[in-house]
Amino acid sequence: MSVFSQQLNPTTGRREWGVMPEDYDYKQEVARSAYADMLHDAERNDKYYEGVRRAVATLRRRGEAVRVLDIGTGTGLLSMMAVVCGADSVTACEAFYPMAECARKGLAANGCGQKVHLIPRRSTEIEVGPGRDMEERANLLVAEVFDTELIGEGAIDTYRHAREHLLTEDALLVPSEGTVYAQVVTSEMLQRWNRVSPVRWPTGGDGGDDAEVLVAIPPSVQQCPGAAAVHDLQLSQVPRHWFTPLSPPLPVFKFDWSGRKKDLPCDETTRKKFNSLSDGQCDAVLMWWDVVMDSEGEVLLSCAPFWAHPDCEGKGGACSSEDVPWRDHWMQAVYYLPSPCWVSEGAQLTLVSSHDEYSLWFNLQRVEGEEVCEDRPACQCGIHIINSRTRLGQLNDPARLEVYLRVLRHLVTPDTVLLALGDGCVMGVAAAKMGARHVYLTEGSEVGRRVMEAFIATNRVQDKVTILTEDISDTSLTQLVAPVTAVFSEPHFSTSLLPWHALYCWYARNTCTHLLGPTPVLAPCRLTLWALPVWYRDLWKIRAPLNTCNGFKMDVFDKLIEDACKEADEKVEPHPLWEYPATARGTPVPLLTLDLCPLTIPDGPISSEGAVTLPPPGVVNGMALWADWQMTEVEGDVVTTGPTQEVVVGDYVQWDRYSRQGVYLFPAPHTLHPGLHHTLHHSTTFQPQDGTMMFEFHISSSSSSSSSSSSSSSSSSTPVTKPYSTPEGLTGKE
Ligand code: SAH
Ligand code: ZN
Repeated sequence: MSVFSQQLNPTTGRREWGVMPEDYDYKQEVARSAYADMLHDAERNDKYYEGVRRAVATLRRRGEAVRVLDIGTGTGLLSMMAVVCGADSVTACEAFYPMAECARKGLAANGCGQKVHLIPRRSTEIEVGPGRDMEERANLLVAEVFDTELIGEGAIDTYRHAREHLLTEDALLVPSEGTVYAQVVTSEMLQRWNRVSPVRWPTGGDGGDDAEVLVAIPPSVQQCPGAAAVHDLQLSQVPRHWFTPLSPPLPVFKFDWSGRKKDLPCDETTRKKFNSLSDGQCDAVLMWWDVVMDSEGEVLLSCAPFWAHPDCEGKGGACSSEDVPWRDHWMQAVYYLPSPCWVSEGAQLTLVSSHDEYSLWFNLQRVEGEEVCEDRPACQCGIHIINSRTRLGQLNDPARLEVYLRVLRHLVTPDTVLLALGDGCVMGVAAAKMGARHVYLTEGSEVGRRVMEAFIATNRVQDKVTILTEDISDTSLTQLVAPVTAVFSEPHFSTSLLPWHALYCWYARNTCTHLLGPTPVLAPCRLTLWALPVWYRDLWKIRAPLNTCNGFKMDVFDKLIEDACKEADEKVEPHPLWEYPATARGTPVPLLTLDLCPLTIPDGPISSEGAVTLPPPGVVNGMALWADWQMTEVEGDVVTTGPTQEVVVGDYVQWDRYSRQGVYLFPAPHTLHPGLHHTLHHSTTFQPQDGTMMFEFHISSSSSSSSSSSSSSSSSSTPVTKPYSTPEGLTGKE
């Protein structure tokens, strides 16, 4: 049986039907989930192993037979650990059927098929009793059912149910406890991902608050508490000068997973007093958690960023992100306070922390007795609904705004009829304020329309700006004040995932040629795709095979990921690279340039290929890809989604923080040996029909005298270089 699925093509904007292999979806889901990187997390694995070892020993001392329940077994790893530690019986359950299948095969391959009773269901559907799923209640529960927010995967319900139905009264739990830490900070930089600031005329300097406001922010947007969704990120990569702590890290929730010492509530609000460490605006709360793996509290697994990590305690300022374990499956998070307020150093404040079954939120009480809303904040204004965090960052990015305003300043005259193609195009309102004759905006959604109407009203340009529907092919020329003289798009659409997906502007323009005057200005006018060979310090772990994990064979799981990656049509996936350190292993390579000025999209594919020399020594394990958008023919009118500083071979790359770059990982890392000649071959094909961008990368090495070559490429199935393993001596900045 084949599965049909309809997907939105982010480049062409068309809905397309695709035939998926029967098992396509789940494999993709497994591959895209954090499974591989979680299993590469040696600290996590080791500490679970130690926790299981200690719990089994404790039960033995008590003279009890050890009956283990592993909730959410995944690959079966924790169950196999329990077997090796000498458990008498092990029951494992897994709610996600494809993973349960993987566990079944993996357990068998490791000789644990008979020893572990596998139930392919959610723990809350398990029944205990003679002849049921489990004969008896378990006296040891091992579970790893946590996410970045700790409870987001439903841990509370899982543990409450287990206590009531699946465990003995005095069962041991690995982990036994979890603590959530919160730290209040002041941070204008973090706020860029949440609050939209007025657009100001560039003053030559850093803008500053005194610069004249061009586009004012509607009150509804100013007063909005912001998006409800958690902002998860790699906090250790956030520059320290971006924020000032106003509170120390405060333990705000303690979860006793057994529910014996303290009930495990579905809803809870706690209050923690602190004295502000500094003057500043209370903008946000940084959050992370730790769990204790043993009943003595000696084995601690912490997700703290390096500057608050227990492993870095006492080392002063000598620690960096390289000194704490890297993981992507558990990051840290930022919660924006619903109404930022100014506080002075020493002021006593109360952090009000709440959670329900799946999420956390925070508020601040400034004075004793002040009424504080304990409800979960949610966007009221719409702007946080239609825009991703990345996009909100773009709306506040001084570098982008400077280019857009310069472009518009040159472009806008009293005769300009501007068509702004794109979602939530605040720059359209800017053009009206700059004196354009008329501006037409296109909005795809009701919420988007509401947001733009608020911007138009606040900026009093009702008579100069008209909102059209997204599909303007039906709009006729007679509906406009005059033919369009300029078409402007910010290179970002709500459907854009990869940097070049904003090519959609080219396709959108095509649907409105009947509205254009004789020689319309088209911005952007050109796209250049770039690639950089890099060493990804950590990111390779999301795809690299495990081979073994704590002595257990992981071939079955490795095969699952490998197959899923082969089936995936995109060999390149989006990641915000500022969060994932990458060392440059060459200089940026231009791959392909597309001229976006022709009003017809070409019929046939557009390709480009080439080869560049890679300087040894070093190791290349991937390519980073991005797009530069030339807005006009003027040299500096470029919006980049790539490096924001000059790329230096051997140094970490500084990336645009307001876009996701394209990540390509080589099947195996390629060592650039000194004394050999290394060549990167690249080929890029753009298929205008369906908007796909295809990339091939391949590295060959040869001694200058001989012609023999070794290579790693996207197509080679048997890489000549050493397969992935944690490269010794290559940790950090190799
Ligand atoms: N235990 C494995 C996998 C952890 S990932 C390891 O440590 O490597 C968590 C897994 O738990 C996921 O596969 C998820 O599907 C599963 N899961 C979460 N809650 C569950 C529940 N209540 N019952 C069964 N499976 C659950
Ligand atoms: Zn909002």
